[in-house]
Amino acid sequence: MPAIAFELPEEVREARDGVAAFARAEVIPRHEKHRALLEEPRKLYREDGRFSDEAVALIREVRRAAARAGFYAMCVPEALGGGGLGHLAYYVAWEELFRVCGPQNWLMLYVISHWAFGPSRLLERITGEARERVLAPMMAGDASMCFGLSEPGAGSDAAAIATRAVPDGDGWRVSGRKIWTSNAPIADYCIVFAVTDPALASARRGGISAFLVPTSSPGFEVQRVIRLFGHIGGDEAELRLDNVFVERWQVVGELNRGFEAALYGVSLGRIYNSARAVGYGRWALERALEYSRIREAFGRPIADYQGVTFPLAESAAELHAAHLMGLNAGALLDRGEQAVKELSMTKAYSVQAGFRAVDRAIQTHGAIGFTNELGLYHAWHSLRIVNVADGTNEILNRTVAQRLLKGDTDL
Ligand SMILES: Cc1cc2nc3c(=O)[nH]c(=O)nc-3n(C[C@H](O)[C@H](O)[C@H](O)COP(=O)(O)OP(=O)(O)OC[C@H]3O[C@@H](n4cnc5c(N)ncnc54)[C@H](O)[C@@H]3O)c2cc1C
Repeated sequence: MPAIAFELPEEVREARDGVAAFARAEVIPRHEKHRALLEEPRKLYREDGRFSDEAVALIREVRRAAARAGFYAMCVPEALGGGGLGHLAYYVAWEELFRVCGPQNWLMLYVISHWAFGPSRLLERITGEARERVLAPMMAGDASMCFGLSEPGAGSDAAAIATRAVPDGDGWRVSGRKIWTSNAPIADYCIVFAVTDPALASARRGGISAFLVPTSSPGFEVQRVIRLFGHIGGDEAELRLDNVFVERWQVVGELNRGFEAALYGVSLGRIYNSARAVGYGRWALERALEYSRIREAFGRPIADYQGVTFPLAESAAELHAAHLMGLNAGALLDRGEQAVKELSMTKAYSVQAGFRAVDRAIQTHGAIGFTNELGLYHAWHSLRIVNVADGTNEILNRTVAQRLLKGDTDL
């Protein structure tokens, strides 16, 4: 019986079912085949914390296979050579991937081009020359990128960045530091945000520009890989830019208006992370339901105890609500709305709902819920992080409250 009273567009359903089938054929078997590498941190990471060459090769393999199958760039505009599906499809397909694969089969992260790691609508803003140079390898899944906005002194208040781009001949010299930049340890390009007009920037009236920078540029350095939650390696890095020369072809969007590209990127991130939370939440709920039927205590399956099942019913209600919010936010973006309030509410609510669902699923499993094999703790870690990444819950609530107080009370 369908849980939702209206149908998704056919192309969105096809995208959802297509990525699920692709994950079952190409991702999950790869994890089974390469378990010795993928589940052994000492093989997965190099000493400096970056993915090992073998792991990078597998990531590339998945990206390329997904590109050949038409999934990798399916949500990239047709003008860039993509499939032209929009934000609703992006939400739905990501949610399905997270639900089907769970956190252990993490190569699924490379089935659809992640907005900050690969081609997306964001690249509509790059110059013709940049398209010539970078688009083909990015679309094929051969090359990847990262998104360098946050700095040690500028997180939630991202407009406070201190990285400077100073004019030099036909271009600029960029110097500064970036932190938490995901995918940076293995990326070929970085979209770097820098102040080009300090007066405008300090008045908060623009003055920030975005540049597409090859990570091989002289002066561009991955200073350290950041380790999270006790891991011995990671995907986030701290970057140092020391007089990196950039030219006009590298400007993303309009000069001094780069912050608009940042805000759009973050919107895609909010859709992605809402999908991640609901997908992992649904995956965890399904695991908890299965386990409650087979685990016995006091002579009966624990599913017979309302103390076990009522929390799962609460998860179902919250995930259902978050799922509907995600569909709505995706559809609003597809209609050309900015949906600032709706996207903020969706992301803040979804990550908390998904996190609670995973936490409850751990409790349903008792001690076994903490083991590596089950993967529940991977989902728990992942969703704990998205309470901060792409806008903390507090900042999202702040945005919602500001909109409400301005009279935007439509719900
Ligand atoms: C895993 C991960 C990956 C990331 N990837 C990227 C990336 O690829 N590129 C990138 O540019 N950035 C990335 N980030 C950075 C992310 O965007 C920032 O962490 C986020 O914006 C919050 O900034 P902060 O961590 O500096 O926290 P801070 O801004 O220092 O905030 C600290 C605390 O204060 C609260 N706070 C701050 N201001 C207010 C206020 N006005 N009202 C109420 N509470 C407030 C916050 O909610 C938070 O609880 C990533 C972060 C993580 C964790």
